[in-house]
Amino acid sequence: MICKNCDVPFNEDFQFCPHCGGRVVNERVTTKSLLIEFAEKFLSYDNKFAKTFRMLFKAPETVINGYLQGARHKYINPFTYLLISITISGLNIYLMKKGFYGEINFTGNSDNKIENFDMQNFTSSIFDYHSFITTAFIPFFALLSKLVFWKRKDYNFAEHNIIYCYTYNHVSILTISLIIVLGFFVKSYMTLSALMYPIIFGYHFYALKRIFNLTIKQLILKSLLFFVLLAFFYIVILFIIGMLMFKSML
Ligand SMILES: [Zn+2]
Repeated sequence: MICKNCDVPFNEDFQFCPHCGGRVVNERVTTKSLLIEFAEKFLSYDNKFAKTFRMLFKAPETVINGYLQGARHKYINPFTYLLISITISGLNIYLMKKGFYGEINFTGNSDNKIENFDMQNFTSSIFDYHSFITTAFIPFFALLSKLVFWKRKDYNFAEHNIIYCYTYNHVSILTISLIIVLGFFVKSYMTLSALMYPIIFGYHFYALKRIFNLTIKQLILKSLLFFVLLAFFYIVILFIIGMLMFKSML
């Protein structure tokens, strides 16, 4: 018999392909088999999500180090976690555009608005590229983290990416879900997102303390260094954007 998934031949008695792990399927799809398959896939996926979500609170290092040390099927893998987070933030942006959180004034009330710069347009292009932006934040944080933990050779740059792929998306899934639920009661997106900052920072302090086994003193020092580097890159990026805007105005 030849595997229908990977084309490698194997013994007819086998129920699974020894090469790719694909299940041998000879029956036609029926409504019953479809329902069973849907329930199996959906529920086990769902359980895995709940398990991962819970464990990332209880002991984030278990999920992250587990993945890094080879346990790839126990929890949702970091890329699926990223996709879930992007889906939820996509829903949030859709609600935002539909006015679920009330009118959002992105232009602000300041008088020193830069002329020729369409803030509304700028914001909507951020919306359009949100999945790209979300994804780009992860290697950026991984880079900062690699610099902050320069002396820790137990995590390389790629492994730092896995850490933030879990923590960043975990906190996004949590805070965006909270924003959507609270959005039914509070019609100010600015207030809602401000409420989320303590959760975002608090969770990262907690997770990094556990992952890197830090003392409180080390955590404070490392966090300060992180913020200094963040501020430095922030200024550099603002400077580049400023230069580009200035050029386009000429
Ligand atoms: Zn196969």
